[in-house]
Amino acid sequence: MTELTAAGRLGGPRPLPEWFTTAAHVARRADKRGMATWLPAGAAHARHVGSRTTACGVVATNWPMLFDVRFTALVPHVCRACVEEVQGAAPIDVF
Ligand SMILES: [Zn+2]
Repeated sequence: MTELTAAGRLGGPRPLPEWFTTAAHVARRADKRGMATWLPAGAAHARHVGSRTTACGVVATNWPMLFDVRFTALVPHVCRACVEEVQGAAPIDVF
């Protein structure tokens, strides 16, 4: 019998992204699969885990990290300064 693991279902372990999406305001919305998830309700910025500021330098100590939302330049309300700082960001999407 084959044991299923989280890593197995996802196609194996993969490295964590360097940058995560964060935002001053978030809202619970349905993603493209109809699952409710937290998404940016304003400008989406990029931030390292443990960093007090965004990639563009805004203090974001109490902003939620949206670990399920990839940072990308392909959404309308993304912070352009963060995009310039985060070269090669993967398209934003819900995992
Ligand atoms: Zn920013």
